[in-house]
Amino acid sequence: MPESSRRKHIFLRDDYRCVYCDTVFPDHDLTLDHVQPRVKGGDHSDGNLVTCCKACNTLKAGQAAWFFLASDELRRKNFLKNAKAVWPRIKRAIEEEARKTK
Ligand SMILES: [Zn+2]
Repeated sequence: MPESSRRKHIFLRDDYRCVYCDTVFPDHDLTLDHVQPRVKGGDHSDGNLVTCCKACNTLKAGQAAWFFLASDELRRKNFLKNAKAVWPRIKRAIEEEARKTK
């Protein structure tokens, strides 16, 4: 799938809502986020891609979602509610990391 239709596919799936801040944005304010960064072994599959606004993407930077969300309870709750298509192992990693960080 070409990158442009890939973006569209994920944005449509997530209703143009940033999974981290639970806010709907126009297309040009959204980015495609690799929940597990590609440089850290994440792939380019639907289960590893979510809709993310530019502000949250800047905050997350190059981190894996579980580190980004460990100390951010609000974004973590939003993510677990919104990211329905994300691999279950990723959701487990997020919950485990949050428990460790408490
Ligand atoms: Zn956001």
